[in-house]
Amino acid sequence: MSVSPVILWFRNDLRLQDNPALNAAVASGGPVVPVYILDEAGEGTWPAGGASKWWLHHSLAALDASLRDRGSRLILARGESGEVLGDLITATRAHAVYWNRRYEPAVIARDKTLKADLTASGVEAKSYNSALLFEPHTIANKQGKPFQVFTPYWRQCLTQAVAAAAPLKPGPLPAPTHWPESATLADFALLPTIRWDSGFHGVWTPGEAGAHKQLKGFVAEAMSHYEDRRNLPAQPGTSRLSPHLHFGEVGPRQVWAAVRALSGDSGVFPPSRGAQVFLSEIGWREFAHHLLFHFPHTPEQPLRDDFKRFPWADDHDASKLTAWQRGQTGYPIVDAGMRELWQTGWMHNRVRMIVASFLVKHLRLPWQHGAAWFWDTLVDADLASNTLGWQWSAGCGADAAPYFRIFAPVTQGERFDVEGAYVRRWVPEIARLPDNYLHAPWTAPDNVRAYAGIEGRYPDPIVDHVTARQEALTAFKALRGHVEERDA
Ligand SMILES: Cc1cc2nc3c(=O)[nH]c(=O)nc-3n(C[C@H](O)[C@H](O)[C@H](O)COP(=O)(O)OP(=O)(O)OC[C@H]3O[C@@H](n4cnc5c(N)ncnc54)[C@H](O)[C@@H]3O)c2cc1C
Repeated sequence: MSVSPVILWFRNDLRLQDNPALNAAVASGGPVVPVYILDEAGEGTWPAGGASKWWLHHSLAALDASLRDRGSRLILARGESGEVLGDLITATRAHAVYWNRRYEPAVIARDKTLKADLTASGVEAKSYNSALLFEPHTIANKQGKPFQVFTPYWRQCLTQAVAAAAPLKPGPLPAPTHWPESATLADFALLPTIRWDSGFHGVWTPGEAGAHKQLKGFVAEAMSHYEDRRNLPAQPGTSRLSPHLHFGEVGPRQVWAAVRALSGDSGVFPPSRGAQVFLSEIGWREFAHHLLFHFPHTPEQPLRDDFKRFPWADDHDASKLTAWQRGQTGYPIVDAGMRELWQTGWMHNRVRMIVASFLVKHLRLPWQHGAAWFWDTLVDADLASNTLGWQWSAGCGADAAPYFRIFAPVTQGERFDVEGAYVRRWVPEIARLPDNYLHAPWTAPDNVRAYAGIEGRYPDPIVDHVTARQEALTAFKALRGHVEERDA
């Protein structure tokens, strides 16, 4: 009689190495049936956006290819996860389902029910941690409560050991004698019908191999300069690992191990100040998950309750939001960021902070509008990190930038894109402006504008910085009763 298989349910852990659920399935000794289920309703109000779907398509293709290299394959199915798993259990006579945990509120609720139902029907249901160094329920402050400030949170995390990454033993994966039916990737219809994704192809390599190449290259070449260069959007100063981490093509334990390996025999860890700062950014990702887990209402509602009363501008006029989305605000650093996002599915972190501050403070549009646009356009769209980033920028979240701290887009551009390479790349119609006018084209004399050929090709600012700043401060005052002014 053939041995009953284990169903390995892939989710945001699209890798073979350091995958505890896969290791456990192999260790069970029976055949393993790897499956991916496209269950949009199971994601609650946050099904994957367009750019994420593009990534998912290519990542699933890469995972299937890696599985086939090991004599296995990826079964694809679409529908409600519980029903699909039920059908697969019947079809394969599997005795167990293993998966790695996720932390989005709707997914937690679904998985909890699913685990109880499977267990009740006599199927072994086991979940593991592949996505985080420190799972949210394992970290608490002295009062046993969740942290809301990053520094003490991360200090507390670092008192615990980071588990080693778990390799998968080489060789074929145990396959069942008969494979169940599978949908095709084309059935998932994840790729856009209007081809807005042409800019993605040369930039990204979704999949485990692409993730490791990226990690290896960053650790060897850029990490030691990370502290100095991570705020310069024209430089390749950051790891660009975010979509790989989101989809679990590489895990944080593997990132940690790659950094640790640089310490070699010296034992000095982290091996450089750059490495230390980089690892603390990995810490921000952990913190984002901590917050989402403990404050599950935050993708929609501000963490700080008083912000529910914030006097947003009347947003019935959608033209400002549209100008922001399309990179037509008249502020070059903002427009460069929004165009980089549209064309590549990613935006540099410094510029994310600038464009988010601009939407929320200069345009006084609700941060939820920005979070929704990012959700649809980012290849690294992640409910935990996106929520933290937007609430931080709006000033209503944990450890947030104070509301009165308003990023001045011209100053930010001059400071972080000194030679204008970033703006010139993404806003080519103003590329011929001299450096001293590049971040504020409306201040250039007519003859300079004419020489640069920008007339009629690039908009004037849709809001005046000084007025918008004052209005934002007044709105904040109305909320708080007082305000301490400071310009960033
Ligand atoms: C408004 C706003 C929205 C954001 N939305 C997302 C999102 O949807 N998905 C996402 O992954 N990140 C988001 N971020 C965080 C950050 O901008 C990106 O993680 C980072 O730019 C990714 O580039 P990188 O991989 O080169 O980062 P690196 O600087 O190389 O950092 C390494 C890794 O650390 C993590 N990380 C770095 N900074 C942060 C941060 N501030 N918060 C959480 N994790 C961080 C990421 O996983 C990143 O890949 C957002 C930030 C802001 C201000």
